[in-house]
Amino acid sequence: MSDAELVLRSTRVITPGGTRAASVAVAAGKITAVLPYDAEVPPGARSEDFGDDVLLPGLVDTHVHVNDPGRTEWEGFWTATRAAAAGGITTLIDMPLNSLPPTTTVAGLRAKQDAARAKAHVDVGFWGGALPGNVEDLRPLHDAGVFGFKAFLSPSGVDEFPELDQEQLARSLAEIAGFGGLLIVHAEDPRHLAAAPQKGGRKYADFLASRPRDAEDTAIGNLVAQAGRLGARVHVLHLSSSDALPLIAAARADGVRLTVETCPHYLTLTAEEVPDGASEFKCCPPIREAANQDLLWRALADGTIDCVVTDHSPSTADLKTDDFATAWGGISGLQLSLSAVWTEARRRGHGLEDVVRWMSSRTAELVGLGDRKGAIEAGRDADFAVLAPDETFTVDPAALQHRNRVTAYAGRTLSGVVKSTWLRGERIVAEGGFAEPTGQLLTRRP
Ligand SMILES: [Zn+2]
Repeated sequence: MSDAELVLRSTRVITPGGTRAASVAVAAGKITAVLPYDAEVPPGARSEDFGDDVLLPGLVDTHVHVNDPGRTEWEGFWTATRAAAAGGITTLIDMPLNSLPPTTTVAGLRAKQDAARAKAHVDVGFWGGALPGNVEDLRPLHDAGVFGFKAFLSPSGVDEFPELDQEQLARSLAEIAGFGGLLIVHAEDPRHLAAAPQKGGRKYADFLASRPRDAEDTAIGNLVAQAGRLGARVHVLHLSSSDALPLIAAARADGVRLTVETCPHYLTLTAEEVPDGASEFKCCPPIREAANQDLLWRALADGTIDCVVTDHSPSTADLKTDDFATAWGGISGLQLSLSAVWTEARRRGHGLEDVVRWMSSRTAELVGLGDRKGAIEAGRDADFAVLAPDETFTVDPAALQHRNRVTAYAGRTLSGVVKSTWLRGERIVAEGGFAEPTGQLLTRRP
């Protein structure tokens, strides 16, 4: 056995080469070797055997709204990172909006880092934001270590984070491409939204009609055209419209540097089952029909969609009114994402290796952490989740660590119970008990 302070064994360890019985040796917070299951534990090393529970790399969730500082009553770093840990997520990248200030200046980034530092139960990194008029802030934010820049093309939901028009998008994208950065985009076209019927009220069908697929398709088409022209690297956030898949595939074939994510709620919940007035299901773009969902799964399977992230975006319960037009748009799923996706993935014939690829390896690669996170192999951080894939549980909002226990998954029975989560070789949660926070603040590596 090579250098080891800790040896973790399971009959099912998910490695880049497949799932097998193995012993994972850990020293100084890193994986030092992946060895046969019966490898000898060196004298003085601790060891733990998880039996048939699966050892998988800790998930990397690159789309989380923590809202701290400024709207911590919606979500804060303490609660969000505990929820993440409880759900098998060991790295999260925080979105630049809904906190006050937003992360659109270096000072805003420092405020975020200060808010997170003592509260992070998992590793935390930050996206910056591209607004009209902050082009001069982008390079300093990049140099200060944000992983890329988020932009909206339609209203974001908060006044301090306005959207870019096409000309502003071109300017920001040119600047970001100039220093080799990444632009991540909420892609809904404002003209198509304005042209859609805006009825408001309690009916989910009316809300769905107010956020049509062609708003996504058009915005993605425009983004792809601009990215292609500039040679810029872009990422489509929370894809919901399956109608955009052919143009995404075509853009990739043309050499556009494009990646795409979708979210657990688009993959596991359908418009047909959303009760009227149930705005815990409201997000933008919206949860669409079952037939649309089938095509998103197919696109995950064939690689047109790269990864799955939560887009955890809570608010206080009072903002989740029963009028879909005015209720806060955002779904809380941080703690449940692994089980929700696994439940549906399994039903559709996918393995846990696929889920790990979508929720850990590919997301780590998206933010340039692909050599440090997202896989169980020598040299990576010793970040793990231990999952009992066949155990089920019924979602009880009271058991969630989210600050506001409003969730679209309430009452659902999900497969896959996270038994423990490990960060750099230390157990950070097991059986509902949490260790003191040891998460690190991550910055993009130059
Ligand atoms: Zn979001």
